[in-house]
Amino acid sequence: MTGTMQAAVFKGDGVLKVETVSIPRIQREGQVLLEVLAASICGSDIHALHVPPGQVITPGVIMGHEFYGKIVEKAEDVQHFQIGDCVAVNPCLPCGECWECRHNMRNLCVHPRHYGQTCDGGFARYALVETSQLYPIDPQIDPDIAAQTEPLACVMYSMDMVKPSLADHVLVYGAGPIGLTYIKVLLAFGIEDFIMAAKGEERVKQAKACGARYVIDTEKESVPERVSQIWGGLADVVIDAVGRGPVLTEAVHLLNSRGRILLFGLDHNALSQVPPAVYTQKELTMTGSLGKDFPAAIRLMEDKGIDLKQFVTHRIKLDEINRGIELLRKKEACRVIVYP
Ligand SMILES: [Zn+2]
Ligand SMILES: [Zn+2]
Repeated sequence: MTGTMQAAVFKGDGVLKVETVSIPRIQREGQVLLEVLAASICGSDIHALHVPPGQVITPGVIMGHEFYGKIVEKAEDVQHFQIGDCVAVNPCLPCGECWECRHNMRNLCVHPRHYGQTCDGGFARYALVETSQLYPIDPQIDPDIAAQTEPLACVMYSMDMVKPSLADHVLVYGAGPIGLTYIKVLLAFGIEDFIMAAKGEERVKQAKACGARYVIDTEKESVPERVSQIWGGLADVVIDAVGRGPVLTEAVHLLNSRGRILLFGLDHNALSQVPPAVYTQKELTMTGSLGKDFPAAIRLMEDKGIDLKQFVTHRIKLDEINRGIELLRKKEACRVIVYP
C-alpha cells in the first residue's frame, strides 16, 4: 500500500500532533501492515505527555500502544496470518538478549522496543507490526472492547500474580479504567464481595454501575473504618490500581496476616514510607505486575462476554485525540476509544 495517512506523532515537550505521514511499508520478514480498527488511550500516554515525561517516550514516534486491527498486507514469509485477519497487538517487543529475556522473563526486558513509545504505534490509520506480537481475535467483538485487549491482558496477568480465590477478601484501590476492569474480572472469577476504594462521586457511581457491591468514596469516608464495617475484618488481597505512595502506607495496615498486595499502578514519582517490620510481623507478600496475558484476555472477551464497554465514555476520531487526552487529564472521561 502506498500513499499517506493521518497519525498522532509525539513531538517532544508534551506535544502530540496529528500529521500527514507516509503509510509504512513492510521492511522485513515477519511483518504485517494493520489497518487500525480502534485504539485506547492509556494512563501512561498521559504520563508520557507530561513535561518532563513520566514514561519512556521517543520524540518522532506515532503514539498508541493499546490497539487492534485488520491485516491488510503481509511479508512474503508470513504463513500463520492471512490478509483480513483481525488481531490484537502486544506492544512490547523484548530484545531477546538481556538477562531477563534469557531467563524466561521477556515481559521484563530492560531494552524492549515498544509500539507507541519507542517505535511507531497505533494512533494512526495503519500500523506496521511484527507477527510475534499478534493474537487473533474474533472480528465480531465490539471494537470498544477489542481496543482494550492490552489493558485487560495486563489485568489478567496480574490476577495470576496474587491468585485471589472465592475465600479471599479483595480490596481494590482506584476506580479508573483499570480499577473498573478489575471489577469486571473479579466478577467473572465469581468474586462478588470485594471492596472498591474510589476517589470522588463520579468514580463511585461508575464503580457501582460496573457491578461493584461495596464502594468507598475516599474523599468522604475512611477506608479502614468502612472496610471493618463491611467485612467485619481485614483484606486478604489488596490491589493498588492507583500507584501512589500513600495507598501502600494505608493498605499494609488493612491486610490480614499472610495477605498479598499487588502493585499495578505505576508512577515513577510515587514514594511511600512503610516500616519493614509490618511485612515481617504479618508475613505479607508484595508483588509488582508488568506482564500481559493475551490468551486469557481474549478468552474472557470471546467466551465470557466481559463487558468493558460500560465504562467507555468517549469515542473520538484521530484528529480529536488531544481533546481526548485533555478529558482524561481532567478526569472528565473514563475510557476514551480512538477510531482512526
Ligand atoms: Zn497502557
Ligand atoms: Zn531483553
